Amino acid sequence: MSEQDKKDLSFRTRAIHGGNDIDPATGAVVPPVHFASTFRQPGAGVWGEFDYSRSGNPTRAHLQTTLASLESGCGSLAYSTGMAAIHGVMMLLETGDHVIAGCDLYGGAYRLLHKICNRSGITVSLVDMTDVDAVAAAITDKTKLIWAESIGNPRLSIPDLPKLAELAKQRGVLIGVDNTFATPSLIRPLECGIDIVMHSATKYLGGHSDCLGGTVAVADPELYDRLYFILNATGAVLDPMSSFLITRGLKTLDLRVREQSKTALPIAKWLQEHPKVRNVLYPGLESHPQFELAGKLFEGGFGAMVTFELDAGIEETARVCEATKLFHLAVSLGAVESLIEQPATMSHASYDANDRAKFGITDGLIRLSVGLESFEDLKDDLAQAIG
Ligand SMILES: *Cc1c(COP(=O)(O)O)cnc(C)c1O
Repeated sequence: MSEQDKKDLSFRTRAIHGGNDIDPATGAVVPPVHFASTFRQPGAGVWGEFDYSRSGNPTRAHLQTTLASLESGCGSLAYSTGMAAIHGVMMLLETGDHVIAGCDLYGGAYRLLHKICNRSGITVSLVDMTDVDAVAAAITDKTKLIWAESIGNPRLSIPDLPKLAELAKQRGVLIGVDNTFATPSLIRPLECGIDIVMHSATKYLGGHSDCLGGTVAVADPELYDRLYFILNATGAVLDPMSSFLITRGLKTLDLRVREQSKTALPIAKWLQEHPKVRNVLYPGLESHPQFELAGKLFEGGFGAMVTFELDAGIEETARVCEATKLFHLAVSLGAVESLIEQPATMSHASYDANDRAKFGITDGLIRLSVGLESFEDLKDDLAQAIG
């Protein structure tokens, strides 16, 4: 099938056929995994399509082709981890540049900005991304990048991506979005005018808690070239086996995300009625501050991450997290098995205590990643743990 014909296919079909051409040598419907680190060239100084696996690898290319298609980009790049992908983007910056990032930000991104990028003289302001005026007010003549999450972490805030994209364009600032929690199944930031969309492919894209990976996709070929140059020069590329696993994960991404979202909603509703639960943060609940916006921006679901706050201190909250049997006590998210964690002591422990308090990452907060198990079993597990 030609690349042009593939463009007209639906999201689900592209997830399966996008980058997965049959193997011309054998007809295998699943392309073989290419472990070769180097490739024989037609002549000295005459280069074939692939030369050395850091610069390009066929199995990684399959993944990148599929993902670029799913994110509506001109191209995508696969990194060894999500953090390597974020770092790849941050390496676009130079000494003296300023970044505006969301105040409920992935803990690892917070650490990268505050403990690594700062060493190169890059400054960062954390701003509530749901407040477009506050983001506008934070832009200075040094600001080069706005970094948001399509669903914030752990408070599940939803920024108005089309509005932020418009602001960034007006002010000549690049804008990137970490789309890990939402996935391209629910929202495609590039279609909202965002410049860079990034994923921890370790999560929903892979979907089975069995490999690490990160991706970036862009719509502008010039920006793609700059990011490719950095990735090739610094070397944090995704290995062939993980590229294969994530390509396989993508085939069921839409199915998994929709089904997991379908279970997350009744779990959020059930938690809301529980006497020991003070507050539930889920974009699919009317009580969520961006419920209407989420309904407008997201296609067919509100995601499968649910955060709630217990009427309890740090120790009692930890005990609830330790008492579940199906929900595994673990960081990470987005896989078929459900996970539970306490942001204050786990995913967001790398935040300063002051920033945790300021941004509502309280001791009683619990974050769930709802998997593919049945609603009844998950609800019973939470009931016995909270009870
Ligand atoms: C996990 C995660 C990352 C980092 O990805 P790794 O693959 O663990 O390096 C970045 N952003 C979000 C939202 C994540 O959940």
